[in-house]
Amino acid sequence: MMWTLLSIFIPNGIGIILYFILRDPLPQVCPKCGVTVRSKGAFCPACGAALANTCPACHRAVEPGWSHCTSCGAELKHA
Ligand SMILES: [Zn+2]
Ligand SMILES: [Zn+2]
Repeated sequence: MMWTLLSIFIPNGIGIILYFILRDPLPQVCPKCGVTVRSKGAFCPACGAALANTCPACHRAVEPGWSHCTSCGAELKHA
């Protein structure tokens, strides 16, 4: 009886956990105003602060290791 219940609930529990992990990716927190940003935008919707590295020319999100923007080809300056 016990094992039957466990075998029913454990897979469901994992499924629910996976559902929430897959459905709700880690939200970003704005470093300036502290608002939680769920979308994958590069800027905070509340205060406009940059949430990710962005290209100075086209303002698209770029990754830290990039030396050039993949959208417009502009050279990226690193701090
Ligand atoms: Zn903000
Ligand atoms: Zn660019």
